Amino acid sequence: MIARCACGSVEYEATGDPILGVACYCDDCQEGARRIEALPGAPPVRDPDGGVSYILYRKDRFRCTKGGDRLQSHKMRPKTDTNRVVASCCNSAMAMTFDDSKHWVPVIRARLSDPPPVDMRICTKFAADAAAIPRDVPAYPGFSVRFIWKLLGSRLAMLFGR
Ligand SMILES: [Zn+2]
Ligand SMILES: [Zn+2]
Repeated sequence: MIARCACGSVEYEATGDPILGVACYCDDCQEGARRIEALPGAPPVRDPDGGVSYILYRKDRFRCTKGGDRLQSHKMRPKTDTNRVVASCCNSAMAMTFDDSKHWVPVIRARLSDPPPVDMRICTKFAADAAAIPRDVPAYPGFSVRFIWKLLGSRLAMLFGR
């Protein structure tokens, strides 16, 4: 898997199958995407329905192979452990990283050259226009965002026997 920023200066590479594809409609993902999209020349982060799609890869099978010095981490608020990573060359949203020990990396699906489909949609009750959400895969209205990511984490932890 290769993920590239819009101008091609930054590249990620991941090996093996992705863990999961997930579209999130939570307030943080929407607001984070809005802020990045407001940067000069930034390509779209949100899908046409307002959600942000991520493909999750294992952290140990994922690396930045080009332009790592151009990556900048943004926090939505001082105390969050979630970082939204932007390629500063062209203001492309690239991925999320976490300050804690989560062992996966959600990569912005739009940045993948040949993206797999999403497997689920979460936090759909926060969507600006629920009717616009495709009914292709299971959708969950969502609890708190923190809970959702924890849930995903424990699900993944089970998969990997940790
Ligand atoms: Zn770039
Ligand atoms: Zn979210």
